[in-house]
Amino acid sequence: MDCIFCKITGKEIPADILFEDDSLMVFKDIHPSAPVHDLIVPKEHIASIASLQGNHRDLLAHMIYTAKDTAEKLGLKGYKLVFNVGREGGQVIDHLHLHMLGGWNPIKQKKEIDAMPHPRLDK
Ligand code: 5GP
Ligand code: ZN
Repeated sequence: MDCIFCKITGKEIPADILFEDDSLMVFKDIHPSAPVHDLIVPKEHIASIASLQGNHRDLLAHMIYTAKDTAEKLGLKGYKLVFNVGREGGQVIDHLHLHMLGGWNPIKQKKEIDAMPHPRLDK
């Protein structure tokens, strides 16, 4: 199957791997949308949240606990966990993955937002 995440979890193509066990892998997103942007990816090819079966409950819990453990190891105090589901939900890679995004500095971010000029609504 021509699936990029199957190739990464199968070590056919490289990735910046942070953690791996029998059922999943954590690697850095190649185009990060945050200072820390990692992907928690099961080794089993599952297309998306929408195609989960009843026997995937433990795997899903394991993905979320792995995200929590990874965040703790990286010293993240806060983070976002995101599943994009389907094209309409922003999913581009049809192999289930959990995005973990974090590493922002909320004080710096607020200063940057406050300094941004709001666009005018001139007619
Ligand atoms: P989606 O939009 O499907 O939820 O997210 C897919 C994510 O995979 C994107 O954030 C994208 O940057 C990342 N990605 C796509 N191709 C690769 C790749 O070859 N290696 C890595 N490490 N990340 C990838
Ligand atoms: Zn796959």
